[in-house]
Amino acid sequence: MFGRGGKKKSDNTKFYEILGVSKNASEDEIKKAYRKAAMKNHPDKGGDPEKFKELAQAYEVLSDSQKREIYDQYGEEALKEGMGGGGGTHDPFDLFNSFFSGSPFGGGGRRGQRERRGDDVVHPLKVSLEDLYNGMTKKLSLSRNVICSKCSGKGSKSGESMKCSGCEGTGMKVSIRQLGPGMIQQMQQPCNKCKGTGETIDDKDRCPQCKGKKVVPEKKVIEVHVEKGMQNGQKITFPGEADEAPDTVTGDVVFVLQQKDHPKFKRKGDDLFVDHTLTLTEALCGFQFILAHLDGRRLLVKSNPGEVVKPDQFKAINDEGMPVYQRPFMKGKLYIHFIVEFPDSLSLPQVQLLEAMLPSRPTSQYSDMELDECEETTLHDVNMEEEMRRKQAAQQEAYDEDEEMSGGGGQRVQCAQQ
Ligand SMILES: [Zn+2]
Ligand SMILES: [Zn+2]
Repeated sequence: MFGRGGKKKSDNTKFYEILGVSKNASEDEIKKAYRKAAMKNHPDKGGDPEKFKELAQAYEVLSDSQKREIYDQYGEEALKEGMGGGGGTHDPFDLFNSFFSGSPFGGGGRRGQRERRGDDVVHPLKVSLEDLYNGMTKKLSLSRNVICSKCSGKGSKSGESMKCSGCEGTGMKVSIRQLGPGMIQQMQQPCNKCKGTGETIDDKDRCPQCKGKKVVPEKKVIEVHVEKGMQNGQKITFPGEADEAPDTVTGDVVFVLQQKDHPKFKRKGDDLFVDHTLTLTEALCGFQFILAHLDGRRLLVKSNPGEVVKPDQFKAINDEGMPVYQRPFMKGKLYIHFIVEFPDSLSLPQVQLLEAMLPSRPTSQYSDMELDECEETTLHDVNMEEEMRRKQAAQQEAYDEDEEMSGGGGQRVQCAQQ
């Protein structure tokens, strides 16, 4: 369908694209790609069912050398027409479960195997606002347990193990404690001889590489791609990269982004906020300043001629906010919050000069008689925050006293009074 050849040339790249592998990917690569993608897109984990189905379809064809050959040559249509034999597609969940020989997300396996899901390993990852604006890759070294390659996770040279003598193979030990006359307590604990596995390995038969532990520590460097526009708290998951253990589906390594506070910019969603202080002269007569952005660009910000900026006014610059996650060419707004610094006092000549220039004061509509009848007042400087704090504390005290006196019914009394 995409081909231009004379013959009917079909699309035979779609399945490779779905799994995200190249056309000459090995069987192992295809298997790995399916495993990762299917874990990530499993509907039980909130994945898209359509995507999950597509993955199963693609894997079913590409993992079968005969079907793959047909697909490579003639495309998907050929498989549908029955050239590959086998015909219809299987249930994607069946495929997934058979792949993992049981549900990988806890619960019992279908074939009665002991199939557990290992724990996810969660790491916080501190990032700066610059990192989230520009995107970045962090290389991190992880140490984890992997199945011992020498014994394939059996722990022994022969592949055999013996029933643990400490717990008769149950993995649990029951201990009985006498609590008092005629009272006993029964406690079940994991057997410490076999660490709850129910089996032991003969000393002579122990795998020399893992010493019978079945797993060996491994250091691995992984690259965490922090994409443009990612949010604080967003998770980056590496499926199946946590500790491996026998009969266990490996958990994920999850990084949770933690954005460090920025000295200048605040972020709200896709928007950025920055404070800028103007002198009164700048607010009245105009200003310009350079704002260094998160990617190092220097933005020239200036007022329009004749424009007056008022205290606490906001202005916005479009498309200079944060990039939108997965659509990094779209950006939010950059809001500038203007703080205007007023002079503390003016000299009399300054007042006269200003008054001559500014719009005139409202003329007094009061008669001398009226003014004579008024009482003089004095204005004091106050720290409003401090005043309010003091008032609230006093009120709380009064309330507490009320509460004590009326024995719990104080609240209703006070509400009624208000
Ligand atoms: Zn035991
Ligand atoms: Zn081993």
